[in-house]
Amino acid sequence: MTETRRRSWAEPYKIKMVEPIRMTTRAEREQAIAEAGYNTFLLKSEDVYIDLLTDSGTSAMSDRQWAGMMLGDESYAGSRNFYHLEAAVREIYGYKHLVPTHQGRGAEHILSQITTKPGDVVPGNMYFTTTRLHQELAGGAFVDVIIDEAHDPASEHPFKGNVDLDKLQRVIDENGPEKIPYVCIATAVNMAGGQPISLANLKAVRALCDAHGVRIIHDATRVAENAYFIKEREPGYGDKSIAEIVREICDLTDGCTMSAKKDALVNIGGFLALNDEELFDAARNTVVVYEGLHTYGGMAGRDMEAVAIGLHESVEYEHIKARVGQVLYLGTKLQEFGVPIIVPIGGHGVFLDAKAFLPQLDQDVYPAQALTAEIYLEGGVRTMERGNVSSGRDPKTGENRRPKLEMVRVTIPRRVYTQAHMDVTAETIAEVYDRRASIKGLRMVYEPKVLRFFQAMFEPL
Ligand SMILES: *Cc1c(COP(=O)(O)O)cnc(C)c1O
Repeated sequence: MTETRRRSWAEPYKIKMVEPIRMTTRAEREQAIAEAGYNTFLLKSEDVYIDLLTDSGTSAMSDRQWAGMMLGDESYAGSRNFYHLEAAVREIYGYKHLVPTHQGRGAEHILSQITTKPGDVVPGNMYFTTTRLHQELAGGAFVDVIIDEAHDPASEHPFKGNVDLDKLQRVIDENGPEKIPYVCIATAVNMAGGQPISLANLKAVRALCDAHGVRIIHDATRVAENAYFIKEREPGYGDKSIAEIVREICDLTDGCTMSAKKDALVNIGGFLALNDEELFDAARNTVVVYEGLHTYGGMAGRDMEAVAIGLHESVEYEHIKARVGQVLYLGTKLQEFGVPIIVPIGGHGVFLDAKAFLPQLDQDVYPAQALTAEIYLEGGVRTMERGNVSSGRDPKTGENRRPKLEMVRVTIPRRVYTQAHMDVTAETIAEVYDRRASIKGLRMVYEPKVLRFFQAMFEPL
């Protein structure tokens, strides 16, 4: 009798502290989104019911991390928490040298300043907003070398984060390896929908880079989620631990930039980690200009302690399985409602395919942006645009980049919401889907010059 009964699994934690949230009225939401210029980044969090804007810095810390916060050594130099963090980075990622920064973009800034000159090109498996901007501000140009499948929302390729080796070879041949400060390899590629790169592909990238003497810098922001997908999908890795897979990924690269606000389960923090002595020396000299002394880099001692503990928790199998499992639960629910989403379902959120959701809208009236506003109006659920607004303008032509992927990211904070919140979210989006034919686009009425998606303002057409 028990043979056919479903065996559910549950979150590997129980809740010790709660933060009340409040549902608003439709009238309140109409006013709030209009005042926010139809940009969910400009909403007050008080006006949000379920906040799925981002998984960045929004995680719930564990009791151990909070206990670690009380052990902050707030000495200006040589804080004991720095050495704990250094030890955690060496143990889990295996990189030799640590340069702490206030968050991921601080690491990207320093890396770009010390490696990239005008005329350089940085190949990468899809752009990330802040990463590309720092490459460009240093005079470099980003070149996308991800496989074509990554730009196709319907492709079921299990490793949509893979590098197209022919594209990478072409960039090296056309520019010469001396113009390539590094190849940027992201794990669980955010802008592709949280899609993993395989170890087989990364090994091939390493061989190609070695043949030309080019460095690989790893955007390790979501490496544990990538490792989970490798364990699930890549032949030969089913019996390896998440920690072993994370280590194998890192060992194939020369250093990393890290936003600890994601995988590492903290509210603020990040770092640059490097194996090369000379590069490390340059990074240490540069961090003091922009972030702080090289043993805190913009973080308090207590923050570094929480990152050190969070890094260990991030590679626990039960944790990562529940984290990715919750994303899968929401994505599957949305599919059952017929809502078009990017497949396979990614590691940190479900990405709605706004082109398929709103086929009546041209990309220059910002369908994904319009959809984020509609989802908020419907049920107070906050999501984020990842399409034409986020992609920005081509620096040469000044035109909108009109990326192939026009998406709404429904991003799940780690250890924060329950399955019931996922049900409400899926039902809210399904309601919007039912009235999709009546949804109109937006006109941008205020446009910042860089990273415009954060602060741009819109009006309904
Ligand atoms: C968030 C993120 C960054 C930037 O990190 P911040 O901590 O937000 O500055 C870089 N790369 C990826 C893939 C990210 O998701």
